[in-house]
Amino acid sequence: MRVHRSAAVSSVHEDADGVTVRSDALEPLRARWVVAADGAASTLRALSGTPFRGRTYAGTWQLADLRVEAPSLDPARVHMVGGPRGLLVVLPMHLDGWARVVLHLPDGPAPGGAATPAALAAEAAARGWTAAVRECRWTSTFRTGRRLAADHGSRRVLLIGDAAHVCSPVGGQGLNLGLRDAVSLAAALPRAADAEGLAAWRRARRADALGVLARTDLATRAWTLRSAPARAVRDTALRGVLTTPAGRRLLAESVAGPRRKPQGGDRQTLG
Ligand SMILES: Cc1cc2nc3c(=O)[nH]c(=O)nc-3n(C[C@H](O)[C@H](O)[C@H](O)COP(=O)(O)OP(=O)(O)OC[C@H]3O[C@@H](n4cnc5c(N)ncnc54)[C@H](O)[C@@H]3O)c2cc1C
Repeated sequence: MRVHRSAAVSSVHEDADGVTVRSDALEPLRARWVVAADGAASTLRALSGTPFRGRTYAGTWQLADLRVEAPSLDPARVHMVGGPRGLLVVLPMHLDGWARVVLHLPDGPAPGGAATPAALAAEAAARGWTAAVRECRWTSTFRTGRRLAADHGSRRVLLIGDAAHVCSPVGGQGLNLGLRDAVSLAAALPRAADAEGLAAWRRARRADALGVLARTDLATRAWTLRSAPARAVRDTALRGVLTTPAGRRLLAESVAGPRRKPQGGDRQTLG
């Protein structure tokens, strides 16, 4: 396979037998299929005229990787605090002393305004996690949403990953869903004589994406509740569920979906 760098796709034309892709830097490329794996702002999705329907969640998200000392909560565990100021998530990282801190700012500023580590740490402290910040490696401010590309029937431009669907980062499911798109497509493509031959793959991917979008949407709403009584009900229910292994598993599956049994051939496909 050849990788063409610094070549921007300018048009995609589909016909019954294949797809012609034109770019500013190359001769036209002709293929039976084009796989669009170019992320949430997919150029190929736009050029193929596929609507990307859904909505953007209110508020802004801020992320930072911080090296900290004397954190007030156990640094080896994941902490999620859904309080009156908004959601705080603190994730342990594989490096000693580093934590990934995620804040949802319900009335937050537009993305682009960089959060200073000091401001981020102060907001995290107001939500219940204090630590002495020694270093900040990376910060990001962004909005997110839930969107699904329209079912594109018999098209030969095949959308996978965030080009096909975006979901809330709560639950950490987006990359997993995209990998399932890719692995299942690798198995389905050699057997597909024409675009209709991928109908079963499209149906299965859409069903999987709809499930992930619904589950992560519910989790996001639950963790970003503003009303105090609603948060009290949520926290009481969570405390009950988290006391037993079966309850913890149920909670994990309510976001990640039922545990999947390895499929025959998975290792060969991924390896
Ligand atoms: C804060 C946050 C936390 C997350 N945590 C998790 C998690 O814990 N677990 C999980 O499963 N998922 C998680 N996700 C989701 C995950 O990051 C995405 O679902 C995943 O990265 C999507 O992969 P992708 O390859 O489809 O798209 P991308 O990662 O966006 O990759 C698309 C690539 O295409 C390239 N590209 C775009 N346009 C063009 C073009 N015109 N020409 C050439 N190249 C182009 C881009 O440069 C990029 O490299 C998280 C997302 C966020 C925002």
